[in-house]
Amino acid sequence: MKIGFVGLGNMGAPMARNLMAAGHQVAGFDTAAAPDDIPLATTAAEAASGADVVITMLPNGEILRAVASQIHPAMPKGAVHLDCSTVDVESARNVAQAAEASGLSCVDAPVSGGIGGATNGTLTFMAGGPPEAFDTVSPLFEVMGQKAVHCGDAGNGQAAKICNNMVLGATMIATCEAFVLADKLGLDRQAMYDVVSTSSGYSWSMNAYCPAPGVGPQSPADNDYRPGFAAALMLKDLNLSQMAAKAADADTPMGQRAREIYAQFVEDEGKGALDFSAMLPRFSNRGRGPADT
Ligand code: NAD
Repeated sequence: MKIGFVGLGNMGAPMARNLMAAGHQVAGFDTAAAPDDIPLATTAAEAASGADVVITMLPNGEILRAVASQIHPAMPKGAVHLDCSTVDVESARNVAQAAEASGLSCVDAPVSGGIGGATNGTLTFMAGGPPEAFDTVSPLFEVMGQKAVHCGDAGNGQAAKICNNMVLGATMIATCEAFVLADKLGLDRQAMYDVVSTSSGYSWSMNAYCPAPGVGPQSPADNDYRPGFAAALMLKDLNLSQMAAKAADADTPMGQRAREIYAQFVEDEGKGALDFSAMLPRFSNRGRGPADT
């Protein structure tokens, strides 16, 4: 396929490389210095011109809306705008309407799997949009990822992503505070892991991504809490889920509290570059001083 790719950052660049390696013709664009191994256009509109599919991988909804207004007029009728950024549900639905008005279709397909998943082609896509457009871009999902779930209409991909990450943020906090309580009660961390990971408190945060160094499978905790999934990105997603909860009048007290705790960690304590599981040393020292990794 002929693919325009706008946003060649940490995630976009390796995704574009995987598409090129699979034989697709890629024209990329980024407002910052872009990697020199991806063929570049001079504007987003030029990258979109004549493309079967234009992929966007951008920081937020505001930028996505601005880029959509540049690329939609340049895309051939019937082409698909595939947005893989994580943005607010409202922007995703707004961009889908704009695409439709221009004779295009739009699929919102945020990802999980991080930079490692983008590089290795093992991302998971959560997609919203018309079934025909989902079918059109499915071969691209197969190149860039290992799984794509069609979640329904426009915006539902973003909805699935922020609901998942709201669960993740809250369970990571619960897992970390339980370790801290166990420490105070004199319970060995390995014993705590052995029990909880095989009991009703088990979760992905405990079993697959244990926040305690030296316990459970290898995780960012074993690498001085280098991400992984940065706490700043977790805060971004928790802000999006609370924004959506407010707009939809959903009662999400745990999501709200998780947002507040990550905001403190990232904005007040300056720990946004650490992995989101560094909440464990943060709780251990009650937020004072350097993380006691
Ligand atoms: P990034 O900041 O590395 O990349 C974004 C790129 O967009 C940058 O290179 C920037 O220069 C470019 N850009 C900004 N405005 C632009 C414009 N108007 N036109 C063209 N390019 C423009 O971010 P990233 O880590 O690659 O993340 C991209 C998206 O993927 C975000 O929405 C993020 O939330 C989501 N995401 C990231 C991860 C991760 O682990 N990094 C995981 C899952 C989802």
